[in-house]
Amino acid sequence: MLALTLSDLLKGLVPLAWQLGDARLQTQVREFVEYLLASSREDGRFGNTEVEKDTAANAFLDLGTAKLMEGLIAYHDVANDDRVIDLVRSYFDRYLARSPEPVGWAQAVLHQENLVAGLWLYEHTGDEKLRTLLTQLCHPSHPAGQWADRFRDGDVAIPHGYMIVHALKYPAFRYLLEGDPADLDGIRTVLTVLDETYGQVGGRFAAHESLPRTAGRRPTHGTEFCNVVAQMYSFERIFEVTGDSAFADRLELLAFNALPATCTGDFWAHQYDQQANQVVVTTAQREFDNGPEANLFGLKPNGDCCTGSMHSAWPRLVQHLWMATDDGGLVATVYGPSEVTFTTSDGVTVVVREETDYPFEGRIVFTIEAERAVTFPLYLRVPNWAENKAYGTGAFLHSKGSVSEINSVGLQRLAGLWEPGEQIVLELPYWPVADARSDESVAFRCGPLQLALRIDADYREIRHHGRGSRDWEILPRSEWNILPVAVPGHGVLPAGAGGDPAELVRQPPSRLPFAALDEPVYDRESGSVVPWPHREPVVLRMKGMRVRNWGLHPVWPSAADVPQYPEVDGEWLDIELVPYGSTRLRIAEFPRADRVRSQPAPHQ
Ligand SMILES: [Zn+2]
Repeated sequence: MLALTLSDLLKGLVPLAWQLGDARLQTQVREFVEYLLASSREDGRFGNTEVEKDTAANAFLDLGTAKLMEGLIAYHDVANDDRVIDLVRSYFDRYLARSPEPVGWAQAVLHQENLVAGLWLYEHTGDEKLRTLLTQLCHPSHPAGQWADRFRDGDVAIPHGYMIVHALKYPAFRYLLEGDPADLDGIRTVLTVLDETYGQVGGRFAAHESLPRTAGRRPTHGTEFCNVVAQMYSFERIFEVTGDSAFADRLELLAFNALPATCTGDFWAHQYDQQANQVVVTTAQREFDNGPEANLFGLKPNGDCCTGSMHSAWPRLVQHLWMATDDGGLVATVYGPSEVTFTTSDGVTVVVREETDYPFEGRIVFTIEAERAVTFPLYLRVPNWAENKAYGTGAFLHSKGSVSEINSVGLQRLAGLWEPGEQIVLELPYWPVADARSDESVAFRCGPLQLALRIDADYREIRHHGRGSRDWEILPRSEWNILPVAVPGHGVLPAGAGGDPAELVRQPPSRLPFAALDEPVYDRESGSVVPWPHREPVVLRMKGMRVRNWGLHPVWPSAADVPQYPEVDGEWLDIELVPYGSTRLRIAEFPRADRVRSQPAPHQ
């Protein structure tokens, strides 16, 4: 599997190196690319031939090559080096065309990852023989590769999370080749099933390794880091094909919640498996089909695959923040401070500057810069979470001297003549909302950010690998069995709730926007870790009560199930909810305040 991990590195390293303008990283990329180019062989394959002698690794060799090609394509984007086209063409013409059928189930499951490079090559060459081969790849005879067909039935080819998140995009690729909208509907169908059966706070579904066998929505089930990364990429590609903003909504939920939550604020340590309700992080077996280190924050807890993929999530999100549209315009896929340069269909170079602290605020300012007035459509996304049946979208657009409320969620097409320096302001609703997760539980959100209970923590260093790389256990210092009880006007309130109203406190994000207050952060100057001194950019202060019938699980070192009928002790506590992505210990799924009973329920 190490070969696969190394193959995974390049696809994130290339955009990272060029987005940062980091000469040292760019040199590393060039050296590796030169090695790959020089390794091309008569049979079309490339890379280290030693790896092919390892029969155990061979099943995944094909996947590793597909990922290497993703990295090479990213390199072609920045370096315009057409030797990459020759290498990829050679792989398809000489190798894949001779053996298009995968060997065995392990190769079959992600054989279609080759479509990423194949479709890119087809765009560059228009080779009809290649198109035939790609169509063939979309219809594997082995059942373990028949993802698009299974998704139509709301099912998966195999129940492994890492495989599922990769495969989500395959029907979109098949749609590009064959144009059957049932393939796109299949993606929506299977996502609905995953949401309903395994859905978790923060846009992910539970799959520590495989999908849980029981109670898939239980908030102590884990999700592997690689799944978050690969699912983000799938949503980027699916949105690119469909233009359906619901996929961009899903992308930003993962990017701003599940992704930052599963690494430390300084990005030096990560988990294999994150939990929504994560109250103690220790070396111990949990209800996961992974080893006892899967829940630790560290260099390579439970294996090195996530170490190889983690760094690609942010750079690839940046690559996809903006996309060109087929009517000559631009679409803002996910919001974030950025700048994009493009050329209109009549040849004018335009820069669109986006200024915002999103996701930590709802106001986004776009400034159009060009030598003269230009005409092009600009698409802005109003996320599904903005929809509120009682109040409308709550989203407003300031453009050309007037303010208008946006009536529906989804992509908004703004067409017109844009003057140089013209500004458009989008205001998305930004206030705390309580969303019922189930009959037992509730989660809190503010804009695209899920909120979670701040739990004071002791960080126990158990290994130091060098520089900022450490393995951590994290133990709670404050109570976590808390029921939040006051979100005036927008939430679930218990009968007779008292105390002060909730207060949303915001401040500009710091250099490490998802670092938690007091979290140990690597300090390059001293070489040691120091507590992070800044508060999170969004803090919801409110009242809560201790829940007496909620503690640790009787078997696993995790929180017990959320009690359906919480028993509170009546004492008001001051609590803070902070962005889910800023928490290493947290409660993100709470008992419902409208289910509070003074006496124990009969089944408790
Ligand atoms: Zn992994």
